[in-house]
Amino acid sequence: MKKLIVQKYGGSSVANIDRVIKVAERIVSYCDKGYDVVTVVSALGDTTDELLELAAKISKSPSERELDMLISTGEQVSMALLAMAVHKFGREAISFTGAQVGIITDSSHTKARIIDVNTKKVRSELDKGKVVIVAGFQGTNVAQDITTLGRGGSDMTAVALAKVLKADACEIYTDVDGIYTADPRIVKDARKLNRISYEEMLELASLGAQVMQARSVEAAGKFNIPVHVRSSFSGRKGTLITKEVKAMEDVFVSGVALNKTEAKITICDVPDKPGNAARIFEEVAGHNINIDMIIQNVSRTGATDVSFTVLATDLAKTLKVVKKRVKSMGAENVTFDKDIAKVSVVGIGMRSHSGVAAKMFKAMAERKINIEMISTSEIKISCVVKKSDGEAAVRALHKAFGLSRKRG
Ligand code: ADP
Ligand code: ASP
Ligand code: MG
Repeated sequence: MKKLIVQKYGGSSVANIDRVIKVAERIVSYCDKGYDVVTVVSALGDTTDELLELAAKISKSPSERELDMLISTGEQVSMALLAMAVHKFGREAISFTGAQVGIITDSSHTKARIIDVNTKKVRSELDKGKVVIVAGFQGTNVAQDITTLGRGGSDMTAVALAKVLKADACEIYTDVDGIYTADPRIVKDARKLNRISYEEMLELASLGAQVMQARSVEAAGKFNIPVHVRSSFSGRKGTLITKEVKAMEDVFVSGVALNKTEAKITICDVPDKPGNAARIFEEVAGHNINIDMIIQNVSRTGATDVSFTVLATDLAKTLKVVKKRVKSMGAENVTFDKDIAKVSVVGIGMRSHSGVAAKMFKAMAERKINIEMISTSEIKISCVVKKSDGEAAVRALHKAFGLSRKRG
């Protein structure tokens, strides 16, 4: 039987028409090698951001259904252009929207989850010898409204298709050679990893390494789908995201991540009474807002501040929700800070090594970087700092943990 490969090309890989043609050339080279090829494509370059900017000119909080109608158009453009480019090389190719190939999601507009994927259409076109090109990032709910899968969601489309089609390989093509110990745009001597575990990649992605969408890594891990992240600008091997291997535990920090997309909200002087935390966070959750870090100190005076972080894009919505509750809780007022960044170190080896936190805080102190919030899990430590300190903090930590040294 022919081998089936699912390849995803990100916006950076199809930033202009020349790049679209290059991608088509690569797809055709896989057909020539005898593969059945299913290609997932993102919107050209920064199209999604540009569409979001248009919406923002009309409203601060536009209807999420309409936002999905808008931002899903980006992928519809790139998929058609890519199909035409493949035709130029004399190969048959056909493009489909998420709805057309039967990517069914729930109804959480702008961050929908895939419930089911129908493989019939893709299979039947592959059987006719065609390259199948699928619009990334989108699906449809049962009411046939278009949904999108969260930023970076084309990665999710690729992993989902690799799973349901039982693909022999899943490749994510991007503008860097693979997964690095830190964003190579920030740390010049960041090192490419040959392999990384699903767990570590999930943490790095959740903590801001945009190279893979966190949810897609979670799904790949759950279904044990090896994912090869590599460059669309070269033929070099990239990084394999895979199951944990023993050697990984010997390295206690494998990467540093930076997230500049969050904002901090503080509710001041919340009375120290049972139920107050529940009241705040139930209300926020009820509006489909995800909370990241939460900090509440012990109260000495019968009242304490509660701080938490949300996506900056959810800030206006969250403030509205929280302000409604403040009076009834007997709290004082609500403040916010958009000028924050979260810097994190991640590594499976942290489970068995001590002193990581101490080393992290010392490296930041030496650069006079103030830490505003701290949170830890088994394999990561995160600190919130001033946004303007974010990149310096990443470089300091990369150096302190010796990450430019070689690792297999
Ligand atoms: P695409 O358009 O292919 O989806 P993205 O912009 O979503 O690409 O992701 C690729 C970018 O992720 C890279 O250009 C790089 O700057 C950034 N990045 C952040 N952290 C890392 C990391 N640890 N390793 C590699 N790239 C990273
Ligand atoms: N175009 C979408 C975005 O920019 C999806 C993706 O690129 O994966 O988020
Ligand atoms: Mg991406």
